[in-house]
Amino acid sequence: MTQDKTCKTCNDSGCGAQAQRPGERDEEFRERQALLSRMCRIKHKIMVLSGKGGVGKSTVAANLATALALAGKSVGLLDVDIHGPSVPKLLHLEGTPISGSDNTIDPVEITCGAGRLSVMSIGFLLRERDDAVIWRGPRKFNVIKQFLRDVAWGDLDYLVIDSPPGTGDEPLTVAQLIEGADGAVIVTTPQEVAVQDVRRCIGFCRQLGLPVLGVVENMSGFTCPKCGEMVRIFGTDGGRRMAEEMSVPFLGAIPIEPEVVVSGDSGAPMVQANPHSETAKAMGRIVRVLLGPELGQADAQPAKSGRPMKIAVPVTGGALSSHFGHCEQFLLVDVDLQDKTVGRRQLLTPPAHEPGVLPQWLHGQGATVIIAGGMGSRAQSLFGQHGIEVVLGASGDDPDRLVREFLDGRLVTGANICDH
Ligand code: ADP
Repeated sequence: MTQDKTCKTCNDSGCGAQAQRPGERDEEFRERQALLSRMCRIKHKIMVLSGKGGVGKSTVAANLATALALAGKSVGLLDVDIHGPSVPKLLHLEGTPISGSDNTIDPVEITCGAGRLSVMSIGFLLRERDDAVIWRGPRKFNVIKQFLRDVAWGDLDYLVIDSPPGTGDEPLTVAQLIEGADGAVIVTTPQEVAVQDVRRCIGFCRQLGLPVLGVVENMSGFTCPKCGEMVRIFGTDGGRRMAEEMSVPFLGAIPIEPEVVVSGDSGAPMVQANPHSETAKAMGRIVRVLLGPELGQADAQPAKSGRPMKIAVPVTGGALSSHFGHCEQFLLVDVDLQDKTVGRRQLLTPPAHEPGVLPQWLHGQGATVIIAGGMGSRAQSLFGQHGIEVVLGASGDDPDRLVREFLDGRLVTGANICDH
């Protein structure tokens, strides 16, 4: 059978819809093309993930999408949390009839200030709330695939995707099908059990080559309305510390606010219902950290997945050096995140250690990630300014093994062992 090699939507020769993958059946290729031709009309795709349910993922996704729409952007909010689709409730859209024609589902349109919010939830399509619970793996996969493929978003600035929680088959299916996502925002609560799940979530993203845009700590303390004292119900700063440890950006903290529950139940996200609330202010800060002070800067934002990368590991005597600044050499390895392949490997001797020299030198060598045992905060920020992702708390002797584990999303990191 002759395949049409052109993505009808973007006509881009680099678009994944152009080429059939080795081993991909014709029908699979056509389905992937159909999905990609919808997705490539969307400038930015942001996945909202959480290590487990109940931490406020859908609340953050709904507020993020609404904040972007209020800022004048055309935004889609896709709720694909198959076991707990809460977006219809959060936006007061329960029972909304869905229209469409063959192979097309029209999203529900809401006007939001100067912007437009298009909403689609798998909850609109489930006959009974418990439908999904009885579906087995392949059926679930097909429902998610068909759902992603058939929603007619049109042209959007942003698509915010409320993913199923955890790191199992369902979020995996979504992440694999949404090719070219800008990255993931991971929502957690501050206590250790939730934070541990987030570590797994970050490993999951790394394994998929999905950039982590940052971590949001939700339910971060409660201000007593009587005495004004801040009570840390779920502990202190767990999300922030974990983000530092795992070298991913911390986007901000949202307090527990009883009004969030009320606004969620009444169908108006806090950023719209009460822009002066602590939650709305925190969301505003998160959007600014995520997308730059001017939302327009988002166009210069994160790299796509599947990009070639160069990983740097400081070594002394062939083993991981405990401090990156005092190493003898750097192992530099070219890797492909999508294919998980390792390419050229070099051992280079760096210039003498002076503040600021190594980030610049490694940037000049093309490094995009540094894996180290420890590093001071000043050096971390210099690497960040050069666009180099810092992964700290690595241990073990074999630097090649660390690279392999990073690629496979299996790299276990501990504390930053040398924070000065
Ligand atoms: P998830 O999508 O992670 O399962 P939800 O967004 O559905 O979580 O939130 C679970 C419950 O917690 C909802 O009732 C929601 O209103 C409430 N909630 C979420 N964030 C907050 C917050 N910051 N303060 C108070 N309640 C919150």
